[in-house]
Amino acid sequence: MNKLGEKIKRVKGNIESACGRVDRDPAKITLVVVTKSTTIENIQKVIRLGCTELGENRVQRLKKVSAQISELVKTDSAVSKEPNWHMIGHLQRNKVHQVLPVTSLVHSVDTLRLTEEINTVAVKLGIRPRVLLQVNTSKEPQKYGVPVGAATHLAEQIETMGNLELAGMMTMAPLTRNKDVIKACFARARELFEEIKGERIVGPKFTELSMGMSSDYEIAIEQGSTILRIGSAIFSG
Ligand SMILES: *Cc1c(COP(=O)(O)O)cnc(C)c1O
Repeated sequence: MNKLGEKIKRVKGNIESACGRVDRDPAKITLVVVTKSTTIENIQKVIRLGCTELGENRVQRLKKVSAQISELVKTDSAVSKEPNWHMIGHLQRNKVHQVLPVTSLVHSVDTLRLTEEINTVAVKLGIRPRVLLQVNTSKEPQKYGVPVGAATHLAEQIETMGNLELAGMMTMAPLTRNKDVIKACFARARELFEEIKGERIVGPKFTELSMGMSSDYEIAIEQGSTILRIGSAIFSG
């Protein structure tokens, strides 16, 4: 097996082990392969290896790479279907119209104004995009995301919009080696996620909790994550 294949296998093995520790089903965890720092060639390789969910954090690159991959996949007999693209980075309102046509899930919705723009563009395009509410659980001022205390209210407001589907929540842990800090942050996210679900202000489709990157995905699984966003553990080194 090639190097990328081995790395993916290792990540999947770690996902299974973490699931085993907390009695979760690995089949219910989605691996989004974050391709922002790799080549088109490598992206095609991971698609051939069976990865169907891919993530980018910048609009320009997402547009370019998804178009290139779309062309390549058409003539690639080893690939049966186009990948789904996830927008995982900060999204500006004036770029919404470029993102919606190429993404299956926007992880980074964190203001009412952004949500309104997504709803407006969705009406024009005749689509109903799935979005996640990005919550700032690390309390780092430079991070994007709605503050924990304002999240329930924003979820409530998003729920009233007809042309998008609030599919869950996303969060990022702070950049630290301190596992207790990361764990506390993910635990806070899980608690908030359950709280919003329990309030019944959101529909039954509020099911996804996107948390966990290369350095902390095993902790995230233990804390209830359903979507992992992993880049460097697959592509670097
Ligand atoms: C880059 C990025 C990731 C992946 O990070 P790695 O540490 O490379 O796994 C996940 N989420 C977001 C929002 C990112 O920008």
